Amino acid sequence: MLSVAEAQQAILSNIKRLDPETVDLLSALGRVLAGDVVSDVDLPPFDNSAMDGYAIRADDVQGASIERPVRLPVIADIPAGHPSEVAVQSGTAARITTGAVLPSGADAIVPVEDTDDGARGSSLLPASIGIHRSFKRGAFVRRAGEDVKRGECVLKAGTIVRPAEIALMAAVGHSRVKVYRRPRVALLATGDELVDPDRVPGPGQIRNVNEHATAALVRHYGGEPIPLGIARDRLDDVVMKLEEAIGQGADLIVASAGVSVGAYDLVKDAVAARGSIDLWRVRMRPGKPIAFGNYRGVPFFGLPGNPVSAMLTFEQFVRPVLRVMAGFTHWRKPTIEVVVHEAIESDGRETYARAWVEREGDRWIARLSGGQGSNMLGSLARANALVIVPDGMTRLAAGAIAQAQMLDWPDEIDWR
Ligand code: AMP
Ligand code: MG
Repeated sequence: MLSVAEAQQAILSNIKRLDPETVDLLSALGRVLAGDVVSDVDLPPFDNSAMDGYAIRADDVQGASIERPVRLPVIADIPAGHPSEVAVQSGTAARITTGAVLPSGADAIVPVEDTDDGARGSSLLPASIGIHRSFKRGAFVRRAGEDVKRGECVLKAGTIVRPAEIALMAAVGHSRVKVYRRPRVALLATGDELVDPDRVPGPGQIRNVNEHATAALVRHYGGEPIPLGIARDRLDDVVMKLEEAIGQGADLIVASAGVSVGAYDLVKDAVAARGSIDLWRVRMRPGKPIAFGNYRGVPFFGLPGNPVSAMLTFEQFVRPVLRVMAGFTHWRKPTIEVVVHEAIESDGRETYARAWVEREGDRWIARLSGGQGSNMLGSLARANALVIVPDGMTRLAAGAIAQAQMLDWPDEIDWR
């Protein structure tokens, strides 16, 4: 039997990063850059004003004060987007707005607040301006290239694209971006007892939870779900769905149920006929053996049928595969140290207990969020963490220190 960590490593050794694709800028959000981003401009592209005010020569206003302002004639008006040919000679000033090109000759900006400009914001250009204090050369001037140099690599391949990276790429002229592809994941639910959620289940029937749960997980972790619907417990039906997954260009196939040793567990046989499949006995609870292999070369997971087992094994084994395929190098779920509020029992397998973790003073306290049966979804919906009872332990006492995986904290960023 494998530990969770050993099973993760063994699975990931079969997984390759997908090819890159070129997408529009916004579609790159949350994905991994597949190439360096090089700037086609200096940033800022030209010397410009950091303030609304007056472009001057600093030497002209030395010793200026409120009592003894220096008065300069205003020779031009330079709004942003309208560069001026006028040169600011010694003894003159040009009105300028934030972001406008610094006129030749000028070497400092006087903010309008430091002048006697009574017509702030007006279109009337004053004939002259009184300046109330002195300025150093370069005051309130933003120099060309002070942020980014033309030809500079501003983002390296492998960077995760956040809103700040979108902003930078927009500034350096990258409207199309090379990122790793989102994994396309075909989802297969199996069982004669399943009906869709919009139906009222008849005798012996239950609603198909796993297709929706796994689709949500796929999308949540950056993949594109391809729901195949319910396959009945017949070999031809399962084979038809698997072929549909291939036809739709799936990068990964995730089935739930039908992989244990029950008489109707046909998924195993269907996959084995055109690929390979192994039952991986993992010392993990919840979760009975999970199946891993390939169907016609496409990696295949067979998750347990019970919804909580399906979702938690997805978290531990499928999620890392999605991250690696999409080019991420970090995929471990953030784990923190918690104090368990009540005792947690285990059978000795690494147990993932559904819990609500909250900060109290300088500690994180974990309280079980309800019944821990592998069919019990309510306690998963009320959980924000999984408290881990380590491999080989049968009980965590109340007050014990344990590790908890934080379900809603990002897994793709190494924030420690
Ligand atoms: P099996 O692996 O087929 O033996 O299924 C184990 C348990 O999971 C059974 O109680 C099934 O009814 C249940 N189950 C299987 N598939 C689903 C599904 N898609 N949604 C909800 N429960 C399911
Ligand atoms: Mg079944």
